[in-house]
Parts: sequence; structure tokens; C-alpha cells
Amino acid sequence: MAVQPVPMKTEESSCYRHHMSDGQWHRTLSHLRNSLKNSNWAYCRTLAGAIQEKIAWLDPIMHRYCSLTCRECDDPCCQATKIYFNRADMLYLTVLDREPPPGQTRTEESARCRYLTPNGCSLARAVRPYVCVWFICDAHMTLFQQESGVCQRRFIGNLAEIRQHRLALESLYAQAALP
Ligand code: SF4
Ligand code: SF4
Repeated sequence: MAVQPVPMKTEESSCYRHHMSDGQWHRTLSHLRNSLKNSNWAYCRTLAGAIQEKIAWLDPIMHRYCSLTCRECDDPCCQATKIYFNRADMLYLTVLDREPPPGQTRTEESARCRYLTPNGCSLARAVRPYVCVWFICDAHMTLFQQESGVCQRRFIGNLAEIRQHRLALESLYAQAALP
């Protein structure tokens, strides 16, 4: 689905990229949702739907890469302690027509990600922090370079469009938050 961007922010905010209690998480989601409802809600829904659709296209490719590499990995990315949902993630989640995850990736700074299980991430890719969607490690890059040119171009194009849509959500939130 093609979506026309609104006047854009150029960077995502690092706001909320920190540990928080589940209560803080839900209060923040409510605040963001209420703010966007004062904006162009229908457009927000269209943006979130388009993001979800593009992640769905990426999902089988990333899943295949993980199934080929992650079990043998000696430095698993999910054990990093700085991975959090940021504001653009939360804006997207609060607009999306599905249940958001129950909390931030961790309630304590040094804890490991609550969604990491022995079988990998327990979250659907569409509701993970976006850094967990776009991150391509060296092993995955090797596999990506073996894809056809058509696939590579669509992959990169989808990431670019997701970024634009996320920035549009950030922009709408900024506009809605103006006095
Ligand atoms: S760094 Fe790459 S291979 Fe290792 S766990 Fe992460 S995605 Fe899998
Ligand atoms: S949310 Fe999922 S993919 Fe991201 S760090 Fe946690 S377990 Fe890994």
C-alpha cells in the first residue's frame, strides 16, 4: 500500500529507550495513543498497517537467515542489554490493530530481554523493537548478498519505506503535542 508522507522529522527520538515498569509502559502507550487520536488517526492507522505489511514481507527471509545461523552464533544479538522499544516503536504499537507486548524489553537496566526464550524471540516480528527487525549481522549480510538483485532492492526499499512511515508517525505525534 503506497502512503504519502507528511512533513517529516529526520530522526527517531530516543525517548523511552530505557527500562520501565509495566505500569509506566501502559501509561506511556495510553498517552501516545491519545495524542495521535488528536492528530489524523485514519492516516496513522494507514501508516501502521503499511509498516506491518512490509515487515510481513521481510519476515520469512529473516526467519530463514536466523534458522541458518543463530544456533551456531557465538555472540547472540538478543543478549545485548541496550535493546529497547523507542518512541516510534510505541507510536506504531499503539496505533496497530493488535495487542501490544506487555512491557518494555526489561524492567531493570541490567536484565536480559524478557522476550528472549531458548527458541528465540517470543514476539511476532511485527511487534518487536524495530532495531530487532532491521538489524543485519555479518552472518545475515553474507546470506543477503546471495539473494537476487530484485530481492535485495525490494528488501532495501521496504526498510526505507518503513523508516519513512515511522518518521511520519513521529511527525504526527510532534504536531499533535503542539500547544
Ligand atoms: S548476531 Fe546474527 S547470527 Fe547471531 S543471534 Fe543475532 S541474528 Fe543470529
Ligand atoms: S525483542 Fe526479541 S528479537 Fe529483540 S532483543 Fe528481545 S528477544 Fe531479541
